[in-house]
Amino acid sequence: MKKILVIFLGICSFSVLGQDKLPIIDMQLHAHPVDGQGPPPVAICTPIYPMPVWDPALEYSEVFMKMLKEPPCKNPVWSPRTDDELMNETFDVLEKNNIYGVLSGTVDRVAKWRSHKPERLYPAIEMTIGARTPSVDSLRALHKNGELMVLGELTTQYAGIYPNDERLTPYFELAEELDIPVGIHVGPGPPGVIYLGASNYRAKMHSPLTLENVLVKHPKLRLYIMHGGYPMLDDLLTVLYAHPQVYIDVGVIVFTQPREAFYRWLKAIVDAGFGNRVMFGSDQMVWPGVIERSIAVIQEAPFLTESQKRDIFYNNAVRFLRLSDEEIARHHSN
Ligand SMILES: [Zn+2]
Repeated sequence: MKKILVIFLGICSFSVLGQDKLPIIDMQLHAHPVDGQGPPPVAICTPIYPMPVWDPALEYSEVFMKMLKEPPCKNPVWSPRTDDELMNETFDVLEKNNIYGVLSGTVDRVAKWRSHKPERLYPAIEMTIGARTPSVDSLRALHKNGELMVLGELTTQYAGIYPNDERLTPYFELAEELDIPVGIHVGPGPPGVIYLGASNYRAKMHSPLTLENVLVKHPKLRLYIMHGGYPMLDDLLTVLYAHPQVYIDVGVIVFTQPREAFYRWLKAIVDAGFGNRVMFGSDQMVWPGVIERSIAVIQEAPFLTESQKRDIFYNNAVRFLRLSDEEIARHHSN
């Protein structure tokens, strides 16, 4: 009897513990330098509310930097001050919440972070088309070494380069050949980023419809729209309907957008029947503290069932990434 009781208690405590630490996949985690958003420390309000207002009598960069240095909210998230603090504080959040992340950045920085935490980080690459664009051959070699699982984040939107630009064609062909997912930024950058140096970025590039010719031309692509084309909701619903292979992540918008606006957008996607293609992503850049706040936004969504939350946190990404049963078991054993 005593033995049975011990076993029973063992099962109970295991399941309670397991409940607390059900795995989460973060489809948009970055290995960035700590000064990537300006001289540290910088702060972000979650959400940004109200959005910045600009009188062009001033430089917009002054308005924007003031928001990061003197955040207009009660409880901002501050960045750490060193690269090592940024990495280690991010790792702490991953461990505490049983998170596995698709990590992008430069090849060197992703390799460095992964050398410290290989079991929680899937290798990806952040790239645009420009002087330092990695060659197709170098990416193929990275993949061969097990150092490239996702091609993204493609940040071409900041350079004003549309997804159907022919300079991207060889990279989409490579992703088809290697059968690896592609993540592309389609949606918001920082508010007013055009006036912070991204002079070719255009608001209309937020539309997922910009992807349509790429999807048709590359039918084997496993593509996810990073930031979900926010806030172009109708365009997104149309693309998800017409292209059933496309997924999205909620990176950055989940913590920067006012909650009512974000919930209205997410609920419309779920109501329309696409809750099985929404994936959690934080877009953590220099603020490890935003990851838990992002989790809370999904966790507290009043219109999502527990199983829909699990789909967003985990199941949809498992399907999209085609993770093996062994990998899933490993995620649940931590
Ligand atoms: Zn992005």
